[in-house]
Amino acid sequence: MDLNDKFHFAKKYADLAMELLQRYDIPPTPINYSVFYLHANGSNPELSKQLTNKIKKEHTLDSFYIESLFIDYVSNSEQVKNSVMTPLSDSIGDLVEQIENQVAQDEEAVVNLEKVDKFLTEQNDEESLGKVMSFLVRTVNKSKEQHQSLSKQLTSTKDQVTELKEKLEMARQDAISDALTGLLNRRGCEEKLAQLDIEETHCSLAIDIDHFKSINDNFGHFIGDKVLQRVANSIKTNIDESDIAVRYGGEEFVVVTVNKTKEEAKTIAENIRLSVMNLKLKQKNSKKYLPQISVSVGVAENKPGESDWQTLFNSADQALYQAKNAGRNRTIIAA
Ligand code: GH3
Ligand code: MG
Ligand code: MG
Repeated sequence: MDLNDKFHFAKKYADLAMELLQRYDIPPTPINYSVFYLHANGSNPELSKQLTNKIKKEHTLDSFYIESLFIDYVSNSEQVKNSVMTPLSDSIGDLVEQIENQVAQDEEAVVNLEKVDKFLTEQNDEESLGKVMSFLVRTVNKSKEQHQSLSKQLTSTKDQVTELKEKLEMARQDAISDALTGLLNRRGCEEKLAQLDIEETHCSLAIDIDHFKSINDNFGHFIGDKVLQRVANSIKTNIDESDIAVRYGGEEFVVVTVNKTKEEAKTIAENIRLSVMNLKLKQKNSKKYLPQISVSVGVAENKPGESDWQTLFNSADQALYQAKNAGRNRTIIAA
């Protein structure tokens, strides 16, 4: 496929996607756009099947449904980046380059023609020839202006696509993150785990805030949320970039320490626990300090031949349960 074809097809799918958005009165958010684009270019058959069935059955679509399609069939993959945005921005980028070359060539031609024109004028050559030259100069100048304006237009389109791409990446990040703490949510966790080799040595930390309900009861949910954020921060600052930190439920967190033994994981767990114990939280209005916050942690290492993450998470949960029963604010390693 040559460059113009590539651009032509990418543009065609983009137009089709926009047309569908308009037809069903769906707001053109990056998520909605991606779903329709993938449907238009036929690269996600399962998504297209669901969408076609829905239209057949109900003759209408809404944003909520489109978002659910995105979550089920798109967000969990690299598809958005690879199939939706890259072809369009790549081909526009190539076109801009092509046109810029053309403009540069035109400029050179103008300079050359002007030289010839000057020469002919100086030589006092035939008048008619001079006229031909002026005409040529005008023509080439005009074509240069046209190319320049086209180039400007395309550059602005390319910027728009880049912006759309960034928004889309942000939407994808939102889909896998917990809004309150910025840690991964369960979907994000699954995505990261899928990239790991379960045969290698990894550990899971199950972390639960102690007596969190009483913080909510005594200080309100707003403060409760602040505590969640601070605990999440303690987790973030005590793990490696390669480790996976997840808000797994209300006040429960999971950390997967990647390629680390349980001894190393225990050190991380203790660092998190101590960091939480050292948190000093002051209530703004009353200027009173909150009572000391603590967490209990269960740590488990995956066993050779283990084939699913849930088994590892369950072991860590059991160790956490023991930590709670043993008096809380401690780390226990699963046997
Ligand atoms: P334990 O030491 O046994 O873990 O006791 P606990 O009080 O921490 O545990 P429990 O499961 O009884 O209570 C958890 C509380 O967490 C109850 C719920 O209201 C609160 N919670 C869950 N999600 C959120 C949230 O997003 N924000 C706030 N502020 N509270 C939450
Ligand atoms: Mg708790
Ligand atoms: Mg809990």
